[in-house]
Amino acid sequence: MNINTANFATSAPDLKSCPKAVLPEFAFIGRSNVGKSTLINLLTGRKGLAKVSGTPGKTQLINFFDINRQWQLVDLPGYGFAKVSKQQRAEFNVAVADYLEARETLVHTYVLIDSRLPPQKIDQRFVTWMAEAGVPFSLVFTKADKQSSGKTQSNVAKFRREVLAGVTTPPEIFVTSSVSKEGRQHVLGHIEKLIKAK
Ligand code: GDP
Repeated sequence: MNINTANFATSAPDLKSCPKAVLPEFAFIGRSNVGKSTLINLLTGRKGLAKVSGTPGKTQLINFFDINRQWQLVDLPGYGFAKVSKQQRAEFNVAVADYLEARETLVHTYVLIDSRLPPQKIDQRFVTWMAEAGVPFSLVFTKADKQSSGKTQSNVAKFRREVLAGVTTPPEIFVTSSVSKEGRQHVLGHIEKLIKAK
């Protein structure tokens, strides 16, 4: 997929404030500092589109970007620091849970995982919640350039064993790097395929 236009559209604090659901949406989420802003900039080819921040937890809004006037890229607030919902649904914010469970135009969600780390409890809990809630998702292992591909593959394999073993439909897995641009076309191709399948 070529990115011809990529523009910030709007922000919303919760599901009811989200823009009218029209175009297919593809959401991105992960722990703070996992490289989500960097990945969004890599995918869209726009360096400053999502802010690469040094302040974890600052962005608590759902951000919508209009891509090619064809689909919306949705930047969800990171998890791992937000208030726990009353229902203890998960350790991420209620707006995110509402959006993931109820947004009609949401097609697919990409859950970002830091490829340098062995499986983290918070990612495990989030992925398990996604699977149980029946929200379609893939995993994107970020920052692959930071270590050897052997090390990345070993962390991916650990994640499969320790986290995905109990998941009925195992998610697709992508490996990305903002430095080498590895994985960019794979993720964009996946989005394109899902748009065409609709
Ligand atoms: P966010 O909080 O999830 O949006 O994370 P950021 O996009 O702000 O990234 C956190 C830090 O990781 C920043 O210093 C980025 O430059 C760095 N980073 C993110 N992705 C990559 C990558 O693929 N390779 C390398 N080497 N650094 C990355």
